[in-house]
Amino acid sequence: MFNNLSDKLDKAFHVLKGHGKITEVNVAETLKEVRRALLDADVNFKIAKNFTNTVKEKAIGQDVLTTLNPGQLMVKLVKDELTTLMGGETVGINLSGTPTVILMSGLQGSGKTTFSGKLANYLKTKKTKQVLLVGCDVYRPAAINQLKVVGEQVGVEVYAEEENKNPVEISLNAIKHAKATGKNVVIIDTAGRLAVDAEMMTEISNIHKAVNPQETLFVVDSMTGQDAVNTAKAFNDILNFDGVILTKLDGDTRGGAALSIKSVVNKPIKFIGTGEKMEAIDVFHPDRMADRILG
Ligand code: GDP
Repeated sequence: MFNNLSDKLDKAFHVLKGHGKITEVNVAETLKEVRRALLDADVNFKIAKNFTNTVKEKAIGQDVLTTLNPGQLMVKLVKDELTTLMGGETVGINLSGTPTVILMSGLQGSGKTTFSGKLANYLKTKKTKQVLLVGCDVYRPAAINQLKVVGEQVGVEVYAEEENKNPVEISLNAIKHAKATGKNVVIIDTAGRLAVDAEMMTEISNIHKAVNPQETLFVVDSMTGQDAVNTAKAFNDILNFDGVILTKLDGDTRGGAALSIKSVVNKPIKFIGTGEKMEAIDVFHPDRMADRILG
């Protein structure tokens, strides 16, 4: 995960760690390398620039050159700033409501169905919740089948209406069904498209208005970097979602989406997907991720 970024940051700090006496030039050089590492990770130019400017100001403020170990202090400043960039705090999901309704949004292939299953499994095993999964992709029968397979894997009931082409009706019926069968969490998996389009946005927005979810989650493939950030912006403009789910981090060597998304949409990353298996889900902790990136 984020190996390229970790390697480049490690190299950036090499300059500072190797010198007996650290000069202003060394610090400036390190920050230049840090900025380059962020840009290579597909972090937006403005964010990368602000990042290094902030670290620089803090380094000056803390008189980095006169400290015992300037290299270590610089690593700490960068780590703190990475944590802030990724949201600072760990933010959980809101499980209020009877039942709690969780709406999944995102493009096709982002990992929505897989994550819906992972979240159902997580809530069932960690939070002892009774979960209902709802298939709302009325265009692709294969998508409903996939959700059924996932539901079976995690031992969670899947609600679908194969003959009904109205996702708003299906969602509302599913919530009624959940109440009637004693479920306290309803996870609605919606239809995605390959790119943002008006029809998809209208549909998800209609479902959102009708079911008034406690949590609207935006699922995105972290490997898509700046595209992930742009897609997040488009969905957030319509849904004002509550959190981001970054999937496929296991294959992401760069980390640009993880580093940029919070500052662009101002919504926390809540969970990450780290593999295809139902157990490959983790709560996102910005500080632990920053530790991991810096090794
Ligand atoms: P959807 O169209 O948004 O519902 O996406 P899917 O859930 O069908 O996922 C698309 C593909 O990504 C599938 O092959 C999944 O197995 C795969 N996938 C989903 N999440 C992850 C993840 O965290 N890591 C990896 N490696 N693959 C994932």
